[in-house]
Amino acid sequence: MEKNSYANRGAKRKSSYKTGLAFPKIRPKKPRKRHAKSILQPKEDRHCFLCLQEGNDQIYEVLHEHHVFYGTANRQKSEEYGLKVNLCLSHHETGEHAVHKDRKTDLRLKRLAQYAFEQTYTREEFRNIFGRSYL
Ligand SMILES: [Zn+2]
Ligand SMILES: [Zn+2]
Repeated sequence: MEKNSYANRGAKRKSSYKTGLAFPKIRPKKPRKRHAKSILQPKEDRHCFLCLQEGNDQIYEVLHEHHVFYGTANRQKSEEYGLKVNLCLSHHETGEHAVHKDRKTDLRLKRLAQYAFEQTYTREEFRNIFGRSYL
């Protein structure tokens, strides 16, 4: 149900999932899991992270949220540390160099993510969490 927030200016209410742009979402069903903001790209950014890397600043209607370290154990860790990016469908799954198809693209993104992680944490911490270093 959409609420017209402009019509209710001044009325203090909890922001809905969709209108709470400035705050990380906390889902009540998983109270102990943190959903951090991406440290790589604002969620509302309509660019593809990898297109930008390649100098293409196209705006996309449809983007997929990709967890840089995916798979059973790592997805939640990517979530927790904000290692997520928005990707166009081509860079995510369908293109020749899609991150889920091309190991090189995957590693390139993982290195960038680790670099960003290491602005806050140490390499040792990265290794402890993700099992290896990509840098
Ligand atoms: Zn792209
Ligand atoms: Zn993905």
